[in-house]
Amino acid sequence: MEQTLRILVIDDDEVDRMAVRRALIKAGVQMELSEVGDGHDAIAALKNAAYDCVFLDYRLPDQDGLTLIQQIRSSEIKVPLVVLTGQGDEQIAVQLMKAGATDYLSKSRVSSETLAQVLRNAIRVYRAEMQADLANQHLRESHEQLIRKNQELERQRQQIQLQNLKILEASRLKSQFLATISHELRTPMNAIIGFSQILLRPKFGQLTNQQTDMIERILNNGKHLLMLLNEVLDFSKLEAGRLDFRPEIFDVLKVINTTVSEMRSLADVKKLSLLVQTNLQNPLLFNDPARVRQILINLLSNAIKFTDSGSIWVEIKEITGDRVVISVRDTGIGIAPRDFTHIFEAFRQVDQTITRKYPGTGLGLAIIDSLVRMMSGKIILESQLGVGSMFKIELPRQVRLGTATVDPLALNLDSNEILCSVQNPHQSPSQFRKTPMGYPNLKL
Ligand code: ADP
Repeated sequence: MEQTLRILVIDDDEVDRMAVRRALIKAGVQMELSEVGDGHDAIAALKNAAYDCVFLDYRLPDQDGLTLIQQIRSSEIKVPLVVLTGQGDEQIAVQLMKAGATDYLSKSRVSSETLAQVLRNAIRVYRAEMQADLANQHLRESHEQLIRKNQELERQRQQIQLQNLKILEASRLKSQFLATISHELRTPMNAIIGFSQILLRPKFGQLTNQQTDMIERILNNGKHLLMLLNEVLDFSKLEAGRLDFRPEIFDVLKVINTTVSEMRSLADVKKLSLLVQTNLQNPLLFNDPARVRQILINLLSNAIKFTDSGSIWVEIKEITGDRVVISVRDTGIGIAPRDFTHIFEAFRQVDQTITRKYPGTGLGLAIIDSLVRMMSGKIILESQLGVGSMFKIELPRQVRLGTATVDPLALNLDSNEILCSVQNPHQSPSQFRKTPMGYPNLKL
């Protein structure tokens, strides 16, 4: 052993102490040796200084070795303890080890070799024990830390759950508020529209040009407001899962042609050409014609709104015998790739500022997304900034039904996705980027 070891010998017998001292010197142990004669002095010495090893006589004048070991260990003094036993003390060895002795050696076997060997072993064993203790302590600490972290996580989970409940409740109240307010506002709005229509009738009486112009403005603004209110009402009904859905067999070409002719005046005002291209073997669909019309109106009014010059095409064709696709293509401002997914979220618009050029609620595409989802359809968007956009709505020829209403869960919602691609909408399609959209469960 290279380093100088601090060794304490506890023995009241001077001859025995000398035997230990000689044996250690003979073994070449570099050491600082201290010697005490009884338990009392031993405790005092151990409290005053740190030792690398203690040799302890089992029989001391004031107490036996077992009691002293127990005393040393209960005082939290950490040191390897080697007990030197006399004739007949061997049977106590097990008890000594249990009490905390590191090793024991019969005095009759004390020699430089045995003592050096026992000393080395005791120090090695003791260090290993200390390391194991330390590792155990670390383990205990990390275990306690984990428990504390788990408790903290559990607390946070409960808080999040509570907040989620609050958010759900707030969202429910918001939907309810939207539904109530839009419903309440529709009644006076219908009166405004109805009475301005009556005022414009020739049999009502002669109006000046200025009066006619003013009433026409009231009528047009009223209609616009009613459209916005209907949008909000539909959205809140969709959120609450209470949207009417009445599927029937109808001629989709008729719906497209009537809707396009109703919207034509808006395109004419902006000098946009509005063209319809059809390629259908069978024009009959089983779906809700009012909802298909609603999708088309939303897409067309967006196309007209976001196109300053050029054309708008409405196209319908069969992709397979049981699937059709309706597309609305424009030469408008286009949409940047970063906005592809956002624009299908409720109240989201590319331009969110209040000074924006194009008015709107930001609900049209969210409503379309929900309706197409209910119909087990698919939305495909191709767009390029400054070139134009094309929204394609792929629908099954026949929507599947629940009992009296359509159950969206029965309509394989998984198949609904929005496919977006950055490309010129006026060229043939290339690769699509899949963008699955989430939406609250809808009950019709
Ligand atoms: P709104 O038209 O009321 O703003 P929508 O949900 O219908 O709401 O559309 C969301 C946003 O998507 C629009 O504000 C616009 O930024 C973008 N958008 C929709 N259709 C088009 C289009 N044809 N061309 C360019 N941008 C469009």
